[in-house]
Amino acid sequence: MTALLRPGTGAIRACHLTIRHTNSRPVNVELINTGTELMLGRVLNTHQQWICHRLADLGYTVARQVAVPDTGHDIEQTVREALSRADLVITTGGLGPTSDDITRDLIAKLLGRKLHEDAAIVKHIESFFKARNRPMPASTRVQALVPEGAIVLHNPNGTAPGLGMRIEDRGSRIEDGKAAPTPSSILHPPSSTPKWLVMLPGPPRELRPMFNDTVVPLLQRELPLTEPFVCLTLRTTGIGESVVEEKIGAQLKPLVERGLDLGYCARVGQVDVRLAARGQRGTELIREGEVIVRAAVGSHIFSSNEEDIESVIVQLLTAHKQTLAIAESCTGGNITHRITNVPGASAVLLAGLVTYANEAKEKFLGVRRTTLDAHGAVSEATAREMADGARRETGADFAISVTGIAGPSGGTTSKPAGTAFIGFASAMETLAVKVFNPYDRETFKQATSQQALELLRRKVLAAG
Ligand code: ATP
Repeated sequence: MTALLRPGTGAIRACHLTIRHTNSRPVNVELINTGTELMLGRVLNTHQQWICHRLADLGYTVARQVAVPDTGHDIEQTVREALSRADLVITTGGLGPTSDDITRDLIAKLLGRKLHEDAAIVKHIESFFKARNRPMPASTRVQALVPEGAIVLHNPNGTAPGLGMRIEDRGSRIEDGKAAPTPSSILHPPSSTPKWLVMLPGPPRELRPMFNDTVVPLLQRELPLTEPFVCLTLRTTGIGESVVEEKIGAQLKPLVERGLDLGYCARVGQVDVRLAARGQRGTELIREGEVIVRAAVGSHIFSSNEEDIESVIVQLLTAHKQTLAIAESCTGGNITHRITNVPGASAVLLAGLVTYANEAKEKFLGVRRTTLDAHGAVSEATAREMADGARRETGADFAISVTGIAGPSGGTTSKPAGTAFIGFASAMETLAVKVFNPYDRETFKQATSQQALELLRRKVLAAG
């Protein structure tokens, strides 16, 4: 991304270090995502990314991850293989009421565990439907079936609970004290330590809270890490991945040699620098690493707490009791969309106007016809007037505006596709900067929105 935004004087946020669990043995995790829709490319396997990210930040390593269709043979074979290697096997999907939801039955059969109906789950399913004023289909009752000895992972956002099972070589130790021998062929080679198998539902809005609220505590209790683990992610924007690496890579090398794990993750308009370390000296390594990263690219860091830039902005504006108006053209409301994704946005956002046509810019923002004629809709002057107009019309403390050419057509020699102007207005100043994002339309919108939000973040910080 070619950003003409200049580094500002963004205040550096306090370091957010989280020290994770400790204990006595390494933990090997395998993840199995089930679903024929994944194999057909109909659904993006976001569980793979999300669960691996969460586990990595907790200090657990996913040794293997595989997606399989909803067929008995595939699921059974994959679970059997994973259990022969891993300490923890996580499956996702296939816990629902339809005929292709077979994970629970298959795994119960594989482990030689009988299924019984759990009265509390039946009650939960009944009240779930009652609260929505819908009749409860008889088929949903199958979700109340629990394999012998399994721990039920409550699902407040759906009907199918998750399930956790401790598996031991000579019979499974059952929470309620009943015996349920695990067929010896499952744990091959034999394992001296117990293993865990966790089944999670498919829908992300059910899986994610369940993972955070029930699986993480279970992991930390039952499969704690061998040594302390520390992880810090510094999120940057307005600087490319290779430049970040150029600025910090060589300086961090001695720390990497001492055990610091350094990683970069680039997305549109954002590069995350991840520092992680294990052992007693982990915290020290991370702190030293953080000092180096902040000294080199500190003005580009907008979060050390894995927040999006829009969350950071809403927090800043809320803390300062300041308000915002947004005037968008080529980003089509994406900046407003991102701001309104943040809980509490209503305290700071007064209006988001998508003024695509020149007439709309004139009518709703008071952009002058003479400005549009003399400079064009995509110009510094128009961006300034859009920001001024948004602020004037709404009475907001700050306004940002965007006008540009998303492409692929509409560009000229002097303003090729990808050109955009970002305007900013406050009681102190009005300004506009030019950016150039020659990408596909979606990436253009995302990159330009990110730059506008970064300009706003810096201005809000500078205004104190
Ligand atoms: P349900 O009760 O909805 O049937 P389930 O536990 O049986 O839940 P699935 O039927 O496998 O889960 O998946 C339900 C939906 O969850 C899928 O249609 C898909 O939208 C989403 N989903 C499943 N697996 C994944 C995945 N790996 N990544 C992202 N979304 C997924």
